[in-house]
Amino acid sequence: MNQKPLIYDLTLEQISSLLQDWGEPSFRAGQIWHGLYRQLASSLEAITSLPVSLRSRLMASYRFQSLKPKAIAHSQDRLSEKVLFELPDGHAVEAVLMRYERRRTICISTQVGCAMECVFCATGQMGFKRHLSSGEIVEQALYFARKLSEEQDHLTNIVFMGMGEPFHNYDASLAAVDRLNDHQGFCFGARRITLSTVGLVPEIERFTQEKRQVNLAISLHAATNELRSRLLPINRRYPLEVLIPACRKYVEITGRRIIFEWAMMKDINDGRDQANALADLINGLNCHVNLIPLNPTPKFIQKAASRIRIEAFVRILEDRGISCTIRLRRGIDIQAGCGQLAIKNNAGNDISS
Ligand code: SAH
Repeated sequence: MNQKPLIYDLTLEQISSLLQDWGEPSFRAGQIWHGLYRQLASSLEAITSLPVSLRSRLMASYRFQSLKPKAIAHSQDRLSEKVLFELPDGHAVEAVLMRYERRRTICISTQVGCAMECVFCATGQMGFKRHLSSGEIVEQALYFARKLSEEQDHLTNIVFMGMGEPFHNYDASLAAVDRLNDHQGFCFGARRITLSTVGLVPEIERFTQEKRQVNLAISLHAATNELRSRLLPINRRYPLEVLIPACRKYVEITGRRIIFEWAMMKDINDGRDQANALADLINGLNCHVNLIPLNPTPKFIQKAASRIRIEAFVRILEDRGISCTIRLRRGIDIQAGCGQLAIKNNAGNDISS
C-alpha cells in the first residue's frame, strides 16, 4: 500500500529540516509541533497559525491520522473504556482508558499481536502480525488526551501494557516515549510512563544504559525456570539466572525501583513454594510486586487465584520485607484487563460499536 508518511512519526528536528527544505521560516516547525502536541489538533485545519499554503502542502505530503476508532466498549461502571483502532492496512489494535479516583491511566499497544507466546495472554495467543510505528503508538495517547480534554480532564499515567512486547519493538516504543515526553510538545512526565517487558535481557541492558526516568516493569509470573518456561516460553532463552541479574543491574545503575508483575493463577503460581522462591529470587532488591488475579483468555482455561490464596501469598512476601500490591481487575467485563486485548477474527466483533 502506498501511504503518505504519518506526521506523528516525525521528531521536531525532522519537521524542522523538512520545513527548511521547503524554504519555510524555522518558527513554523514549532507552530506545527505546538498544534499537534499542545493544542492536540486532530486535523491540520485546526492549526490556524499556519498559512493556508503550508497547510495544503503538508496535507498533500503527510497523513494526520492512521488510527481510526472503530469500536468503543465501556465497562458497566463507565470508568473503563476500550477502543479498537483500525490501521490503514486493515490490522487493528486496542487501547484502554481507566479512570480510578484521580488517576486517568491509559494502556497502549506497541505491536499488532505479539511474538512472545505467553500461554495465558490473549495477544500471545494470536501471534505476531507487525510492529507499530512510533507515531501509531503516540496516536493512541493523543486520542485519549483529546477525549479527556473535552471533559476538562487529563491523562495522568501511560502504561505500555497493551498488545505487544515494547522491547521487541524497542526503537519505536522508545521514540514514542520521547515524543510523549518532549518538553516543547506533549510534555508528559517520564516518571508517569511505565514500560512492561516479558524479560528481553539485551533490551533491559540497553534500557539500563539509557538511564531514563521511565518506570520499568518485568512480567515475572513464576520464580522457577521450570514453571516460567512453561508459562512464558521466552524464559528458555533468557532464564531467571540471566534475567534477575539484569534487573539487579538496572536498579543498581539507575537507582530506580523495578516493578515485577505476577498474574495470580489458581494452583499454578499462587502457592507458598512460589512465594518463597520469589522472595529468595528478589531478596534485597529495590522493587515492588504487583499481584494481578489472572484474567480469563480463550486458550487458557485456568482460573484466577482465590482471594485467600492471594492474601497468603502477600503475607509471605511482606514477612520477607517485599512491598507488594494486589491489583484490581478493571474493565474485566469488556475484556480490557491485562492480557485480554486481542481481536477476534473480524475487527470489532467482540466489542460493541
Ligand atoms: N509484553 C509486555 C506487555 C504485555 S501485557 C509484557 O509481557 O510485560 C501487560 C501485562 O499483562 C504483562 O505483565 C502480562 O504478563 C500480563 N498479562 C498477560 N495476560 C494476562 C492475563 N490473562 N491475566 C493477567 N495478566 C496478564
